[in-house]
Amino acid sequence: MSEHFDVAVVGSGAGGGVIAGELAQRGRSVVLLEAGPHRTAADFTRWEAEATHKIWWPFRQALIDGGAGGVIGIIAGRCVGGTTTINTKVALRAHERDFAKWEDAGGLEFGPDDLAPHYDRVESALGVRERSDWERCIHTLEPGFRALGAELEPVHSYTDHNCMKCGSCLQGCPTNAGKSTMTTWIHPAWAEGKLDLRAEAPVERVLIEERNGGREATGVEYVDAAGERHSIEADAVVVAGGALNTPQLLIHSGVGNPQVGRNLGGHPVRLVYGLFDEPQDAHMVYPISSHCMEHQHDEDGGFVIEAATIQDPIGFAITLEDENGPMWGEPLVEAARQYRHWTGVLAMANDENNGAVVVEEDGGERFDAHFEPSEQKRIDDALDFSRRAIEAAGATRVLWSGLASTHVQGSCRMGSDPERSVVDGHGESHDVKRLFVGDSSVIPRTLSVNPSLTIMALADRLAQHLDEDPNGYLESRGAKTTAVAW
Ligand SMILES: Cc1cc2nc3c(=O)[nH]c(=O)nc-3n(C[C@H](O)[C@H](O)[C@H](O)COP(=O)(O)OP(=O)(O)OC[C@H]3O[C@@H](n4cnc5c(N)ncnc54)[C@H](O)[C@@H]3O)c2cc1C
Ligand code: SF4
Repeated sequence: MSEHFDVAVVGSGAGGGVIAGELAQRGRSVVLLEAGPHRTAADFTRWEAEATHKIWWPFRQALIDGGAGGVIGIIAGRCVGGTTTINTKVALRAHERDFAKWEDAGGLEFGPDDLAPHYDRVESALGVRERSDWERCIHTLEPGFRALGAELEPVHSYTDHNCMKCGSCLQGCPTNAGKSTMTTWIHPAWAEGKLDLRAEAPVERVLIEERNGGREATGVEYVDAAGERHSIEADAVVVAGGALNTPQLLIHSGVGNPQVGRNLGGHPVRLVYGLFDEPQDAHMVYPISSHCMEHQHDEDGGFVIEAATIQDPIGFAITLEDENGPMWGEPLVEAARQYRHWTGVLAMANDENNGAVVVEEDGGERFDAHFEPSEQKRIDDALDFSRRAIEAAGATRVLWSGLASTHVQGSCRMGSDPERSVVDGHGESHDVKRLFVGDSSVIPRTLSVNPSLTIMALADRLAQHLDEDPNGYLESRGAKTTAVAW
């Protein structure tokens, strides 16, 4: 006989980890299914190649205009905690202008007040604090920003005082100073036996049946590490596999809404590096402890710069570009030899969600990207500003990386208009009842800031909604449940 839960959650990242942990702590029966392995601080090492192999999703690319415009490399976590296990923990609330764009995109009236109590809760859970403990590699760059009339300010992040500034955030934090949904929401509930966590358990299908005059989600089908297939029944299913995976899972499960997979946003980013005479050791710091927000809004340029950061040596070397395009041969070797002397910034540009997640006829995945001239201008301006700031700081050479995305969003848009969105204002599918989306896919328009805090706040809101159960979906609906007081 199939097992039965109140809620099955697919994916344990920023969205799924919060939803599963919150519901489990409130006494709901929850199974959390994660495609990747369960690795913890005891396993994490500063060996770049091992981490990318074991806890990252295999490297994927979005084709810009079918590849004619180049590619965007996409990085994501594939482990318990999802991308929050390998991210840099910058904690920013969305700006009210970001929310205004949501209404234009999917007809949803949503403002800062709707999320404020949920931001408060997740910030408190994560222990968000200011990082003004800057190292040399930032002090080196700061005068360059000032010379351009701009300012570097301390970021807020979910890292506690055990942060040893080792620079290893992308390989998993070895001290647990860097918070993740694994350490903050999943482990507390799992360790107390309240949450059924199943790692290395990729979900292949949401089970959907014709019931009560419509279509309803009834559970999920997953494969375990031994390759055995299992079905689980659930009163509600939350898909939170990240903006690249969630739409694929919905399509494979027969959710026919043509909006699924559309409106993918990448928040395109590139690293820009300056070479200095003195060693900077930008790989041995908390990676992003400052930012420049002067150009955050579209009318001010539409980009945010974060500093100081550098990729680990392999990532640094395989993505380096100069005026002639990707570097190779002796110039690349020479640049890599001076690794300790480079410091850099991350230049992120606002985009307009013109990408897509596509399931090909043979079932394979494809990611499309396209930039309108306004978007391309922001990307170019972000590079130009970064170069000028780094040069003004005294760099003897400036190089940069190709385009990447670490902030994919928007492929299952949340909205009140079913013609323009996939889920409603509470994340429930317009087409299939009891089916919810709880991750970055629902963000109707890409934010101008790092998105994880907003994804977690939306997830906290969805957990509350599921627990309040206004539609009477949950079998344990009579249960009196209590939210954790963060
Ligand atoms: C290098 C890097 C640095 C970043 N730094 C920051 C930062 O400083 N601040 C910030 O706000 N944001 C940052 N981000 C972005 C942020 O971490 C993500 O936006 C956020 O984690 C996305 O949340 P999510 O729930 O949508 O997906 P994820 O966190 O990616 O979680 C999705 C999970 O679902 C699992 N999954 C997928 N498909 C299935 C399936 N079929 N069955 C079971 N499980 C499945 C995946 O393995 C994954 O674990 C960074 C990202 C990267 C890559
Ligand atoms: S820099 Fe700090 S938060 Fe990042 S991995 Fe090292 S100890 Fe953890």
